[in-house]
Amino acid sequence: MSVFEQWRVSTSSGVCRGCQGELTEGGVFFSALLEAPAGFERVDFCPECWPEAERDGFFCFWRTRRAQPEGKPRVDTGLMMEFFDRLEGAESEEKRVFRYVLALYLMRRKKLSLLEVSRRADTEYLLLGRRPEGRRVEVANPGIDEEQIRSAAVRLEELFDAEL
Ligand SMILES: [Zn+2]
Repeated sequence: MSVFEQWRVSTSSGVCRGCQGELTEGGVFFSALLEAPAGFERVDFCPECWPEAERDGFFCFWRTRRAQPEGKPRVDTGLMMEFFDRLEGAESEEKRVFRYVLALYLMRRKKLSLLEVSRRADTEYLLLGRRPEGRRVEVANPGIDEEQIRSAAVRLEELFDAEL
């Protein structure tokens, strides 16, 4: 099974993982990404259950607001930068794909600037500069095409319940 097929599995249920209560539209709640065997899984908690949540297994977490049906919020660029940093050095295909797709997104949002493209042992690497401080970071192209990039972006939007 490819990583892209695995991505059909889990999204936000709209239900609190702790009390099973429904998360109301427009209400504030907490979300986290767990590393499940099939890839990242998103879990949500209401504000009452959040303090009791077992945070050790969370890859990352954030405070959010349930999207109104008429439009998803824009994704938080700071949160995406944090997720990008957490994925540094990751081995799994899902994480390497996310890291590359996030690099493209963060370049578009002017949080990273492209300094150089290089190639070593059949792999393309992007050398990027962080803005504003300029610290350099390298990202490997996992060898995916346009369609796979789009599919990964859709998956990120599902996981974070927001538009890239
Ligand atoms: Zn709850």
